Amino acid sequence: MASRIEHEFIGAFAGGVFATFNNDEANPHAVNVATGALLGKYAARLPDMFEPASHPNHRNFFHSWVFLGTLGVGMYKLTKWEPKEGYEKVLKWFVLIAGVAYASHLLRDSITPKGLPLV
Ligand SMILES: [Zn+2]
Repeated sequence: MASRIEHEFIGAFAGGVFATFNNDEANPHAVNVATGALLGKYAARLPDMFEPASHPNHRNFFHSWVFLGTLGVGMYKLTKWEPKEGYEKVLKWFVLIAGVAYASHLLRDSITPKGLPLV
């Protein structure tokens, strides 16, 4: 089982990398990367907040391949959205980083001996 700190580290890395390549021109680059890493750190905790790792078979729907696929489709559709307002751009950026960090958690869990359930 991957530890919470490991998930946070991977999520922060994923959020930081995402922010590095998806910058908002309004903000300094370093601020965006740091914000992305911080958001990624916390968003990577979400799967275990929905389904706490209190027993070996805690992985259910929010840890499943179906959820990961649904998340991927949702994020893909979100990348096609072209927000007009500033707050919409920020919201899109935040949701995409949270999604990347969430996915990083599931992908890390998928390579453990227990893996992920289909549904
Ligand atoms: Zn987990």
